[in-house]
Amino acid sequence: MNNHQNILSPLDLGVMTLRNRFVMGSMHTNLEESPDGFHRLAAFYKERAAHGVALIITGGISPNKEGGVARGAAHLTSVTQLEQHQCLTQAVHSEGGKICMQILHTGRYGYHPDIVAPSSIQAPINVFKPREMSEHDIENTINDFVHCALLAQQAHYDGVEIMGSEGYLINQFIAPRTNHRTDAWGGSYTNRIKFPLEIVRRISEATGPDFCIIFRLSMLDLVEGGSSWEEVVLLAHALKAHGVHIINTGIGWHEARVPTIASIVPRMAFAWVTKKLKQEIDIPLIAVNRINSPEIAEIIISEGYADLVSMARPFLADAAFVSKTMSGESHLINTCIACNQACLDHTFELKISSCLVNPRACHETLMPISPAQNVKKIGVIGAGPAGLAFAEMAARRGHKVTVFEKGSGIGGQFLLAKNIPGKEEYKETIRYFENQLSALGVIVNLGVTIDLADIAKDKQDVWVIATGSVPVLPNIPGIDHEKVIMYPDLLSGIKIAGYKVAVIGAGGIGIDVCTFLLKSHHAPNKAWEAFVSEWKMENLIDPSDVLKKANVQPQREVFLLKRSPGKHGSKLGKTTGWIHRSFLASQGVQMYAEVEYVGIDDAGLHIKHQKEDKLLEVDNIIICAGQQSENTLYHTLKSQGLEVYTIGGAESAGELDAKIAIEQGVKLALHI
Ligand code: NAP
Ligand code: SF4
Repeated sequence: MNNHQNILSPLDLGVMTLRNRFVMGSMHTNLEESPDGFHRLAAFYKERAAHGVALIITGGISPNKEGGVARGAAHLTSVTQLEQHQCLTQAVHSEGGKICMQILHTGRYGYHPDIVAPSSIQAPINVFKPREMSEHDIENTINDFVHCALLAQQAHYDGVEIMGSEGYLINQFIAPRTNHRTDAWGGSYTNRIKFPLEIVRRISEATGPDFCIIFRLSMLDLVEGGSSWEEVVLLAHALKAHGVHIINTGIGWHEARVPTIASIVPRMAFAWVTKKLKQEIDIPLIAVNRINSPEIAEIIISEGYADLVSMARPFLADAAFVSKTMSGESHLINTCIACNQACLDHTFELKISSCLVNPRACHETLMPISPAQNVKKIGVIGAGPAGLAFAEMAARRGHKVTVFEKGSGIGGQFLLAKNIPGKEEYKETIRYFENQLSALGVIVNLGVTIDLADIAKDKQDVWVIATGSVPVLPNIPGIDHEKVIMYPDLLSGIKIAGYKVAVIGAGGIGIDVCTFLLKSHHAPNKAWEAFVSEWKMENLIDPSDVLKKANVQPQREVFLLKRSPGKHGSKLGKTTGWIHRSFLASQGVQMYAEVEYVGIDDAGLHIKHQKEDKLLEVDNIIICAGQQSENTLYHTLKSQGLEVYTIGGAESAGELDAKIAIEQGVKLALHI
């Protein structure tokens, strides 16, 4: 018997029946604004629907030009745009799925000068100040929502999701933080919720009983001046009375300084909020945020947290998430590790979204998987992310693949990353590759160092060199002193640092090392408590209490050093960089830029900083000064005329990260 029978059971909503409880949540992929983007979106949605997702919610589509996320952002305002939307609905319906279009008006969050809001108050995360809407503007905007919903109905969507959370326009009307109006649309709570209720009432009237209306309700604003719990409950009841069929959970405004989806957020961290509302109202509810496995989804349904489970990023990571759940193969799911590196960070950089662990996501039409025309014997040297991604895709296409790894386990840099508190999810990628390679019949030889003699004996048609990189040892007098620890020795537990530590190199790894030195791992049953305490969320329902970070006593005194000028961590991803910087600041990490390393001796690390000689009397110095490629084999084999390729850190170590390494592996495997 399948262990996921609750999450796989159908749900009759009256307005439509869903084949199971899996909802693919709204994601803006930037395909919405790209040439040929709707065609590509259709392929992206179709693959997920074909694998059994019950309901797909599109990325946000604006009801008018002012409401767009940026200038030129996707909007649905005219019948001339119906054809491209019909291409999406047709793709999903042909696979037995349902699809609703999200109507999103960004209000003061729009990244363009024509933005509007209930009051002219600039968002702390935007450079543009909104114009205050007149009563006439408000009426027009409600009409735009209704017109947009009617067009969505004509495009054969099964319904719409009205985006009422995350601090967007509707949320801005609801919360006193952003609504300072003194007319009929501001002041009392009744006045402030009139805007969403009028939108819902008029859409319901216009589209009739067979068109589903989902409302994304901000159940926890996580900002000062947000709604109280009593107000959230009141609004939920009013939404139901005005024609909403399903309420989706919204957690945290975009300007909130509490992480809500990053990997440091424990799994299903916010499902309790949905459960709390479920005890107050009888309407189907959707749970969201950091749900990335069928096991957790099953708990949410079977233990009454919600009626439906929405996941967005996990469907980027694995299109076959639902079908693998149905066939009892959840061990083969490529799990979303909540890194945000190729999805949300891409969205904010105006690049097409994808996924670090699945670079085909949103590129399905550009990266089709076809059976190999000429099946080859391929030897892969190195079982880090690049080698594993290559081996998996090459074997999927029918090649005979053997992997050789000198270490005792697969995973490469991910074996270190998974040891960093907050990055425990990286172990899931290793688990995925272990199971997937075994299922595909890939032979994995561990503890094997391959040399030229082995290659001469082992007759492979093709060799792929994925030997990764080695850490750079900087040229500092005293670098061989016993106080010096290379970061892999620290992260793998071979060496333990003392109380006072200097970290040389403030790239992604230097910052991870600081986290490793300062933060504790928590058992899953303690993770939520630790998260609440760290982000001072003891009284979550009172938003004024959630912003001040807890004064956690640092475990160590840490110096983070770099030679270049500028802010530490400025190259980290937009959606997670602030969390790392905020954590380091809360732990009192002393960050020095423009440092010259003078030498290391028994006294500690001697530096020149701001023209002054300084001695950091540290117990240890951790070296995180980047990496260099390890690819001597490649050049030798190439000169012998063998068919040989190099990928990942072995190909180029500068600026290389797992996203690029995996993408290189997959792309080579699709063409070999
Ligand atoms: P990195 O980002 O290139 O940083 C290397 C650091 O070492 C730089 O801060 C550099 O700073 C310093 N450095 C370079 N050569 C040095 C030398 N000879 N002596 C002293 N210092 C030197 O590399 P990484 O930290 O090893 O990370 C590797 C890749 O993984 C990067 O692409 C990174 O983005 C990625 N990564 C990302 C994350 C994440 O959270 N997104 C986490 C881990 C890794 P100065 O030149 O200023 O001294
Ligand atoms: Fe998840 Fe990272 Fe992929 Fe985004 S890029 S979907 S966070 S694994």
